Order: sequence, then C-alpha cells, then structure tokens
Amino acid sequence: MNLIFTGPQGSGKGTQSIRVARKLKLCHISSGDMLRNVKGRLKIKINNIMDKGNLVPDNLIFKILKEKLLDSKCKNGFILDGFPRNINQAKALRKIVNIDKVIEIVISDKEALERISGRRICVKCGAIYNINNSRPKTGNICVKCGGKLISRKDDNIKSIKKRLEIYHKETEGIFTIFNSIKINGEKSADIVFKSIIKNLI
Ligand code: AMP
Repeated sequence: MNLIFTGPQGSGKGTQSIRVARKLKLCHISSGDMLRNVKGRLKIKINNIMDKGNLVPDNLIFKILKEKLLDSKCKNGFILDGFPRNINQAKALRKIVNIDKVIEIVISDKEALERISGRRICVKCGAIYNINNSRPKTGNICVKCGGKLISRKDDNIKSIKKRLEIYHKETEGIFTIFNSIKINGEKSADIVFKSIIKNLI
C-alpha cells in the first residue's frame, strides 16, 4: 500500500504517519526529515530556504526522494509525509509510483499557529512535544531518552505564516486529483489515529 499523508503545518501528519507506518509495516518517508539530513555543500542552501519557510526546488527534492521510493526495503509500501507539495511534484510522482490513498489531516490556521509555536523536538530521538498543552514534567528534557528539547529553526511566526500561505496556495488544491480522505485533525492524537486506520483497512 502506497500512501500520502498531507495537512497544514502542525496538523500532526508527521506523528500520525510514523505511527501508522509502524502499525502497517510501511516505510515512512518524510521529505522534511530527508532535507534536514542532507550533508555537504547543499546543506547551507537548503537550510536557508527552509528557515524562511519556502519550498526547496522541485528537482532537488525529487532527486533526494526518488531513490528512497524505489528502494527494495519499501516494497511493502510507504507513507509519504510532506510530499508532494505542489502540482509539479504530484505529476512527477505519478509517473514513477502508484498511490493508493491520500490522508488529508485538516486543522484551522489558528490551531496550526498555536500548535507550531509550542512545538518542541528532541534532538536525540526526534520525539515531538507541544509545551502549550502537554509540557513534559522534565522541563526541556525528553521523557523518553533524556535528550534536549528544542524548537525547529523554521518554527517561528514569520516562517509558519509563510508555510501556511504556501500550503493553501500550492499544496491543498492538488489533493482533489488524488481524491483525498479528509480526517479531522483537531481531535486527540489517539482519535485521529483510529479514524485514519479505519479508513485504511
Ligand atoms: P516539513 O518537515 O514537512 O514541515 O518540511 C519542512 C520544510 O522542508 C518545508 O517548509 C520546506 O522548506 C521543505 N520541504 C519539505 N518537503 C518539501 C517538498 N516536498 N518540496 C519542497 N520543499 C519541501
């Protein structure tokens, strides 16, 4: 089963796609994570674009992703988290793989802004927290592994607004061609997870 998870920043698509991938034994492929892990001379260029909340060029992201999509380790299927983000990427994707379902997690911009401004990530294990609604008892320390919790560099108000603007302008519309399944992302993480699974099996 090949899936796409989409939704505005802060919708929980990252958290949910990791959870669903684990349950259904699929590869989790996050374009954002792949970009954050790029090493070498491209890193500075990519970081500059990401920090401002803009999209990196299509050819670059596609080059990074293509190998992973066709990797034999993902022959059971995959969940694409954060890709495609515009019509060009969607067209390129459809040329190389078949997509079975698209899960679109819907939240309001107000909710997105609140969630992202409180988002903290563990530098060691990548666990995601929201200090506005569930500040860990350990303060700025991850309860799972003891790593330090930090804000992502692009989780500042200016960049968040830019990312939401791009989402509405370039990303949202492309999922009508994929017939996406809309999930209310403003419920608790467990309820969202259950309704995604119900729609997949
Ligand atoms: P995310 O982790 O999905 O929130 O993505 C973080 C940032 O990575 C985005 O704001 C973009 O700068 C970049 N990015 C992630 N996925 C893509 C994509 N499919 N196309 C272009 N840029 C992307």
